[in-house]
Amino acid sequence: MIERKKIAIQKVADDDVHSAVFSALELISAKELMGKEEMTVLLKPNLLSAKKPEQAATTHPKVVQAVIQWVKQFNPAKIYVCDSSGGGFKPKTTELALKASGLWAVCEEEGELVECVPFEATERVIYKVENPLELTEFPSSHLLRDADLIINLPKIKTHGQCTLTCCIKNMFGTILRTNKAKAHAQFPTLDRFTAALTDIYSVSNPQLTIIDGYLAMEGEGPGSGDPVKLDLILAGYDGVALDTTVCQITEIPVNDVKYLKFGEQKGLGTTDLNKIEFLGEKIEDVKRKFKLPKHIGAISARLPKAIADYISNTVFKAHIGFDPQKCILCGTCWENCPVNAIDPPEVRQKGNTPIWDKKKCITCFCCHELCPENAVTLKIPIARNAIFSWFGVVAIGFLAVLGTAIGLLVKFL
Ligand code: SF4
Ligand code: SF4
Repeated sequence: MIERKKIAIQKVADDDVHSAVFSALELISAKELMGKEEMTVLLKPNLLSAKKPEQAATTHPKVVQAVIQWVKQFNPAKIYVCDSSGGGFKPKTTELALKASGLWAVCEEEGELVECVPFEATERVIYKVENPLELTEFPSSHLLRDADLIINLPKIKTHGQCTLTCCIKNMFGTILRTNKAKAHAQFPTLDRFTAALTDIYSVSNPQLTIIDGYLAMEGEGPGSGDPVKLDLILAGYDGVALDTTVCQITEIPVNDVKYLKFGEQKGLGTTDLNKIEFLGEKIEDVKRKFKLPKHIGAISARLPKAIADYISNTVFKAHIGFDPQKCILCGTCWENCPVNAIDPPEVRQKGNTPIWDKKKCITCFCCHELCPENAVTLKIPIARNAIFSWFGVVAIGFLAVLGTAIGLLVKFL
């Protein structure tokens, strides 16, 4: 039986991703998963949107190609490379992303055995979530049920809402496109959304994960951050432990990545790295502190739920803006906003950029993630938000009472 607690950390030397992937899989004895011939294998990369490999938003084609070549050694019947990218309402969105990311070309190069296909172009199945934390069921591809082996191929990126996107978050892509926006609207707080992410992960629960840390992303991830040439490949079986390891490497506080707690609670893996056998490089030797995105998840995560939800939705609420120099009025942001919080400029005949409705916005950051021109900006005007919230009203009232009391004391003493 396969030992689930092994994690390999492998350096990529001289851009030789192929060797790093093969060595990492050798270290964890991954060939034990390939027990029979003619298997159907599903590879799930991160295919956020139509961005080029050098923008570091999607799983690097060199990583995907190396994994395809590794699987091919075991005479599979079929290898599927599938995802459902963000941007639910335009036709061919995932195809465009597959082409821009270089994954389409890699699959063509690897021949007929490999099929590159959007999840939404495959047969649909409704999956029930066992012991759901938030999400009871969702539609996805029949491949989650019918593949003999699911290999998760996430990328290390910071994330404006969840702090980190890697193993657990990557399986959000198994939700078909329009349902992603619906999930954001249905679970508007960080707690509820990350619990739902864990529910989604639990349905596919990939048997093997190979992480693209070759070209990672820091700062304003997952779509508009800065590429980081981390030159690492990680491989293992426990997605929770792998995400925890990535937190250690990037120095992202584990407590800020809320789905890890839920993953452990659901029995999907461990955050206790003492239970893990590390092979290859040591964490200490490959550490590199990542710039975090500007967001409120980390702050609210340490507070009681009710207070955290209130503060995150008011005082720390991000304001969405649009850079008129970059915006080409393509419509991606308003077509994909799950709660119709963005209108095209002509609706109010005002300005030449989209119009944001603060009251409707649930700060899911879909617009920021999906804008092809990086024209969506985020700001958190804490002082202004506080003044215009109940929190500010109470604080101002308290200060007024305190000022009056001090005034009376000074007068009468
Ligand atoms: S902000 Fe971005 S997504 Fe929205 S219309 Fe402008 S270019 Fe398109
Ligand atoms: S405006 Fe942007 S951040 Fe706000 S709900 Fe719409 S897509 Fe999400």
